[in-house]
Amino acid sequence: MDFETVIGLEVHAQLLTCTKIFCGCSTAFGRPPNSLTCPVCLALPGALPVLNRKAVEFAMKMALATGCRINEQNVFARKNYFYPDLPKGYQISQDTLPLAEGGHILIEVQDGNTKIGIERIHMEEDAGKLIHDEANRASYVDLNRAGVPLIEIVSKPDLRSPAAAVHYLKSLHEILVYLEICDGNMEEGSFRCDANVSLRPRGQSTLGRRTELKNLNSFRHVQRALEYEVTRQRRLLEKGLEVEQETRLWDEAQGMTMSMRSKGEARDYRYFPEPDLVPVVIDEAWVAKVRADLPELPQARRERFVSAYGIPAYDAGVLTSDRRLADYYEDVVRLCDRPKIAANWVMGDVMRLLNEDRRGAHDCPVMPESLAEMILLIEEGVVSGKMAKEIIEQMYRTGRPPAQIIAEKGMVQITDEGELDATIAAVLEANPRQLAEYRGGRDKLFGYFVGQVMKLTGGKANPKLVNDLLKKALHHD
Ligand code: ADP
Ligand code: ZN
Ligand code: MG
Repeated sequence: MDFETVIGLEVHAQLLTCTKIFCGCSTAFGRPPNSLTCPVCLALPGALPVLNRKAVEFAMKMALATGCRINEQNVFARKNYFYPDLPKGYQISQDTLPLAEGGHILIEVQDGNTKIGIERIHMEEDAGKLIHDEANRASYVDLNRAGVPLIEIVSKPDLRSPAAAVHYLKSLHEILVYLEICDGNMEEGSFRCDANVSLRPRGQSTLGRRTELKNLNSFRHVQRALEYEVTRQRRLLEKGLEVEQETRLWDEAQGMTMSMRSKGEARDYRYFPEPDLVPVVIDEAWVAKVRADLPELPQARRERFVSAYGIPAYDAGVLTSDRRLADYYEDVVRLCDRPKIAANWVMGDVMRLLNEDRRGAHDCPVMPESLAEMILLIEEGVVSGKMAKEIIEQMYRTGRPPAQIIAEKGMVQITDEGELDATIAAVLEANPRQLAEYRGGRDKLFGYFVGQVMKLTGGKANPKLVNDLLKKALHHD
């Protein structure tokens, strides 16, 4: 039988606010355990939460970027469960009146774009972290993360393959990072995902029984875990067995999912409205203000780069993969008006140098002004492409503008025809065998002569001029 794969993802993203969602504690990562806590996030009796406005605005940004409807009435709810990393014994989350509902994003699949529905986006607080010390048979709790703001983004079951799920996840990730509301760090847990997956006979409209996969710490884990699970479920169904509705953990080392808890053990969270927080009213004026603040989103920017700058879609994809890199590129183009050449330099030498130092485009020592100037100097024939490579390296190391580096290094291109003619004559004289072969019809040797001239001039000869003069010289004799 032919089965169709159905996947829906629940994504948790930590918001990049300076302070926690209901108290003034810092959200910094990697600080000494329990140093970023207070009576509110430690859940001491009598301490009351106060909502962080910035967290709401960050969440609104994501809602608007994904075309969601923002609910005017926002109500927080208590989600009750007992676990040692949750000091209050409940998590403040949202239930029946979440921040936003009914959005979608477009993902690119083989045959064009597909719309993936977003069921809802809601705000909640993160829990603390347990550290198990097996040697000392002890467990510790670090509550620095307790109360860090999260949004949960729940997709509709619209994804039809593990690859599509990863695509969707990467798009969400890209949008969150573009909006600068999440650092997207999967290793540190700022961006986490649970995957729900089921199969159904192709053509059937009702959904099959699903499993929920946890412990997916990278895009690769998501892909592998889903692939494993699809195969596991298909084998069961093909044998006429049933898929149990359960939560399963991905074990990366063993490359398999393992049952964690079944539906029977599913938790009853006893949701009820949080009495310590008033409902938040998000009126149209507030929505409009946040909307006006949205940057151009990656997909729109990619399309604009192709249409406005006439660069290939591939280049547009690379250049917009990072918002600051795209800004950098646009600054360079604004200054030199050479979009394709600028794309080549940014994607080539600039990105290589930045990657080597794990640096972002926002603190690139090569100022956009300098790169633009260098591009124009190449075009004017003042420097050759080869010299430019050296100049850009110097600009990167010193932060100086190209004119200064050229002057200091005496790197000005040789465009003096007399000097070049003399060099060409010397090259031809030194290579009588090659010259005879060239005249005998080995046209390819032209490149060899050009190479010799470049070598003799230390790469400073203007290549175009060398070409012209060499042609003349070879024809004259
Ligand atoms: P719960 O809150 O009980 O986990 P939800 O209805 O909120 O369930 O769904 C959670 C996620 O699971 C959503 O992303 C949804 O699209 C997905 N999902 C629900 N049913 C299925 C199914 N049968 N197969 C695959 N995904 C599903
Ligand atoms: Zn606190
Ligand atoms: Mg749910």
